[in-house]
Amino acid sequence: MPKPHSHNAGTSSRPLPVTLAPHTDELLSSWISRHAEFYAVPPLEMLRHCLPEASSLHAADRSLNGDHVIRLAGVFSTEPATVRRMTLSNIVQSSRRLLAGQPLQSCPACHPAKDEARPVRRGQLLGWRFTCPLCGGLLRHTDRHDRPSPFGRYHGAALIGERLLDDEAERGVRTWTSPAEIARLLLMRRVPRPIPRGYEPWRFRVLGAIIPDLDDAIERRSLPTPAHPILPLPLRPALLAGVAMVERSGPEMLKMLRRHMMGQNQVRFSSAIDEIATHPCRSMASSQLQLI
Ligand SMILES: [Zn+2]
Repeated sequence: MPKPHSHNAGTSSRPLPVTLAPHTDELLSSWISRHAEFYAVPPLEMLRHCLPEASSLHAADRSLNGDHVIRLAGVFSTEPATVRRMTLSNIVQSSRRLLAGQPLQSCPACHPAKDEARPVRRGQLLGWRFTCPLCGGLLRHTDRHDRPSPFGRYHGAALIGERLLDDEAERGVRTWTSPAEIARLLLMRRVPRPIPRGYEPWRFRVLGAIIPDLDDAIERRSLPTPAHPILPLPLRPALLAGVAMVERSGPEMLKMLRRHMMGQNQVRFSSAIDEIATHPCRSMASSQLQLI
């Protein structure tokens, strides 16, 4: 019986006569675009030479199935595993909203100067990272100069939080809950008590109850939204440290944090932590192990 999605071998594209070696951690769309430049065709045409049904390079980075991977590997004369590693198709659903649509950060040591468009590295799209996946150095924004992070003293905890989010996103590893879900809950609004003069409701996040310097560091233009939940790099260590602290303290800490909320927000927060309590993760890695 023929497989439903198998393509006709007669229509598959032949391997390209010349292929370019991928750079370390290069994103698939970047690699395809470099080939497009070499063969003087538009990047999407290059992709459709291999996958006629492809809608965009952006989509190819995020959702390639096994058949696509094999066909691309055939045209570019490489291993399917090499192609798969260049994509974000392994990123678990709960972490996908933390993927940037375009490169937003780079490593001064590993990435090209900002006037060079390529190669684009996969790590430039990972909105939970504040360190470079290749060398461990601090990332910086590609389009602007950052002030130094005011959360330097949380560096150690932030590294732990980064690893928790990375393990979940890249490898589907969770502890007693999803670290990406903890991050989401920590960015919900809280109500400070007593209510300060000139109260600005957008400024106060649950995270500020565990990292008090956050309230003053938050700027309106830097706030994450549901559409763009990725924090600017100087603020990211605070969120990552918060994730590490909640993960280590366990569900009781979330219950304690619920007291900082009011109204509909408190109801939403409560139902989220009830959900966590009723559906604990099966892979119960000890949080203590994460600290070694
Ligand atoms: Zn680096």
